[in-house]
Amino acid sequence: MNALAATRKDFDLPELEPVLARRVTILGSTGSIGVSTLSVIAHAREIYGPHALPVEALTAGSNVDVLIEQARAIRPKLAVIGDEKLLARLKEGLAGTGIEAAAGRAAVIDAAARPSDVVMVAIMGAAAIEPALAAIARGVTVALANKECVVAAGAVFRDAIMRSGASVIPVDSEHNAVFQVLGGSDAQDVERVTLTASGGPFRDWTTERMRAATVKEAVAHPNWSMGAKISVDSASLMNKGLELIEAHFLFALPPDKLGVIVHPQSVVHCLVSYADGSTLAHLSAPDMRTPITHALAWPRRIASPSRRLDLAAVGQLTFYAPDQERFPCLRIALDCMRAGGLAPTTLNAANEIAVEAFLQGRIGFLDIPRVVEQTLDKAAGGNSETHTLEGILGADARARVLAGEMSKGA
Ligand code: NAD
Ligand code: MG
Repeated sequence: MNALAATRKDFDLPELEPVLARRVTILGSTGSIGVSTLSVIAHAREIYGPHALPVEALTAGSNVDVLIEQARAIRPKLAVIGDEKLLARLKEGLAGTGIEAAAGRAAVIDAAARPSDVVMVAIMGAAAIEPALAAIARGVTVALANKECVVAAGAVFRDAIMRSGASVIPVDSEHNAVFQVLGGSDAQDVERVTLTASGGPFRDWTTERMRAATVKEAVAHPNWSMGAKISVDSASLMNKGLELIEAHFLFALPPDKLGVIVHPQSVVHCLVSYADGSTLAHLSAPDMRTPITHALAWPRRIASPSRRLDLAAVGQLTFYAPDQERFPCLRIALDCMRAGGLAPTTLNAANEIAVEAFLQGRIGFLDIPRVVEQTLDKAAGGNSETHTLEGILGADARARVLAGEMSKGA
């Protein structure tokens, strides 16, 4: 027999039918990733029939009108709004549909804990930590778009995944690409993993120009359409710093095996280099519906509405080293990854506060690295546990208070 003609059985791949019957919960359905996930599900239903990818629960933070609209269209069993004041409005909007309604932080965590086969974690920020852990504890497939929870609580996540045996499939495009390239094998023989960075909207800007950057300019990403917070992170390159720490925890790779290269076209998402001199890459059009579809169907492949890659139209792929002087957030994040301990937790919390302050017009763009760095300096020496949820949440809360103070009077 031709050894290359491996059959599906050789790889023990599941049949397509049970994959399409997977029950999905979406945490953060009204955000950029959440909406894209719903469009992937709608596409699967068009292609494979109306029973494909039934939805157990949708949750959102405060955008109750969009949540109602989504629930009426996709028919989950449960819809949850984070903001408790909006429960009456949610109930009213779902009246007569038979869809359960709930509200509050605990209800979001309960939604993650309800029986389902795949949980998409698309809540923004460290607010995803507890819902994501509730999903992981069930030992199911967790499609993890949120990166902040891994950065803030890496050791806690690693322990929880080991305990429950959950399959965590990264959705962040670079990490999804690494996951695909590794093909399920561990990262043992890997010499280096390189994440690509588009460079963001300020790729070619001077520091002086960035000092006066407006919110509108910062959220105008050249290749991806994303939520406001991650768009600002992409402009400061903090996003790439967070992603290095995310990769460090998800693939258990030491900091010296991780690197970043700027690649303005966002076509190559990662490079995985091996000890024998081989480098494997993952390519796709920059469209989050590709990694979302991959994570929902893994280890099978199903049809996605995502854009296809047309290399002839792209023409040229270019690469160069990032500039840590113009983008201090990348340098700060690298230092935190190397320092370990609570530094990544503090980094993430301070950045969330600083980005919020920037988005609200209270500080300038270059105050973001200042607030983060000052918070790290002040928080240094704090010694709560990195392996317990309480320790992490404590350090996260302390950093938020410090960063709030640093964001005043800027
Ligand atoms: P977004 O701001 O567009 O959406 C966030 C979602 O989370 C919304 O549904 C919001 O209602 C909900 N939410 C926010 N705070 C909440 C809270 N406290 N409790 C409950 N729900 C809450 O964000 P996004 O761009 O979709 O990103 C989501 C996550 O995915 C982020 O962690 C981001 O880093 C990651 N990610 C996004 C992209 C992208 O292309 N957008 C790419 C890679 C990774
Ligand atoms: Mg990414």
